[in-house]
Amino acid sequence: DDLKVLVIGGVACGPKAASRLKRLMPHADVTLIERDDVVSYGACGLPYYVEGVFSDVAMLTETPVRVPRTPVFFETVKGIRVLTRTEAVAIDRNRKIVRVREGNTGTESELAYDKLVLATGARPFIPPVEGVDLEHVWTIRRLEDAVTLTEAIEKKGLKKAVLVGAGYIGIEMAEALVERGLEVTLVDMFDQVMPQFLDRDMALLVEKHLQPNGVKLVLGEKVTALEGDHGVLRRVRTEKQTLEADLAIIAVGVRPNDSLARDAKIQCAPQGGIVINSYCQTSDPDIYAGGDCVVNQYVHPIIGTPLFIPLGSTANKHGRVIANHIAGLPSPFPGVTSTGICRIFDITVGRTGLTEKLAQELNLDVETVIWSGPDRPHYIPEQRPMVIKMIACKRYRKLLGLQVVGPGDGAKRLDVAATAIFFGATLDQIGGIDLAYAPPYGPPIDPIATTAHVLL
Ligand code: FAD
Repeated sequence: DDLKVLVIGGVACGPKAASRLKRLMPHADVTLIERDDVVSYGACGLPYYVEGVFSDVAMLTETPVRVPRTPVFFETVKGIRVLTRTEAVAIDRNRKIVRVREGNTGTESELAYDKLVLATGARPFIPPVEGVDLEHVWTIRRLEDAVTLTEAIEKKGLKKAVLVGAGYIGIEMAEALVERGLEVTLVDMFDQVMPQFLDRDMALLVEKHLQPNGVKLVLGEKVTALEGDHGVLRRVRTEKQTLEADLAIIAVGVRPNDSLARDAKIQCAPQGGIVINSYCQTSDPDIYAGGDCVVNQYVHPIIGTPLFIPLGSTANKHGRVIANHIAGLPSPFPGVTSTGICRIFDITVGRTGLTEKLAQELNLDVETVIWSGPDRPHYIPEQRPMVIKMIACKRYRKLLGLQVVGPGDGAKRLDVAATAIFFGATLDQIGGIDLAYAPPYGPPIDPIATTAHVLL
């Protein structure tokens, strides 16, 4: 029971694994190491802090009843030792030891483990263009990024923002900056927004919503350089034009932090990411990994290939799977069907499963249908329109993917579809699920069932 467990990385997967393990094995000796000075915070809330939805950034590091999740909190409430400003620099698998460096003093020491958990996450990818290190160029990943950005906007009166990358983080930040009164241009090298997330037809609806809300779109243009005067950003150049800017955010995806594992000769995928089995064990069975630092999260019944889908929802689930397995409870990770959702001004944008584009690339024989209509009966004043796109496999009559865009309640339909795909439901089964109905919530036959009926 005095098992020594060392957890590296303190945002989502790490604290979840440590906390769950302490619940299952109260006598385990659990230490969490984090190189930053905050742990267990809601990174997904960063855009809402920048937007001004709440003004105290500490809320992101607190429990719902506003108790700060400090090292003292972890120690006293959960019995977990937390070492902040402490970086793990090397793993010695033979001696079962991790070498750590204390950030303030640079002092190095060794910590022993019986089981090691790598929850080192991911870092923003920085494209190889000139000027990315100019002042007033940000990536948004750590709490500090959102704090320094907000401070600079407030104190320096920054006005013109260029966001590089029209994925969900770029779009959430675009909205935050528009709400703060900045002039915002969103640039992407692809000819649509959310290129990894939505098909082009659905992305068009998002574009039509962004523009009137004050986001200028520059699509199909690669950023070639960031330029400044005296080290401070002034312009962003694309292949075709020059955009004035006193603030830029680069949000073109993330790369897994797998170097610690790689250096210790733990198996990693060639494209990056630690390889794990369904219990989140790495190629060394005493070393687990989860969250944004791993691949192999995607086990869609039709695609066997590992995909890198870094999301907070998955990181938390991995934390649980890891703790369960260490404690001897077999609960394999069932994989993800790439479900994601974001709110863009006043519309919901969601996707689960395969896009039509990905299905075509995989050479699957698919049929699609687009449904549009109100989410509730017309006589309910709260009714709002939405558009649903369903992608199904012709031969097996199975749902493969769903996208939803619009002010209507798309989240409910998205989660029904995610559940259906998870359980491998056929279109007939989806049409037949006993979904809740009363006029304030939806029509008697839910739009997701109606859409499935069109494909039947
Ligand atoms: P991380 O959050 O990357 O944490 C890893 C930690 O490990 C870091 O703090 C790092 O400092 C530390 N670390 C790394 N190496 C070492 C080392 N050698 N020694 C010590 N410490 C180390 N996901 C969603 O599902 N929904 C959303 O709405 C959503 N919105 C987001 C919005 C934004 C702006 C951002 C940035 C992310 C969002 N995400 C969202 C993604 C989500 O935040 C991540 O998937 C999640 O944080 C991953 O958790 P993790 O624990 O695997 O890794």
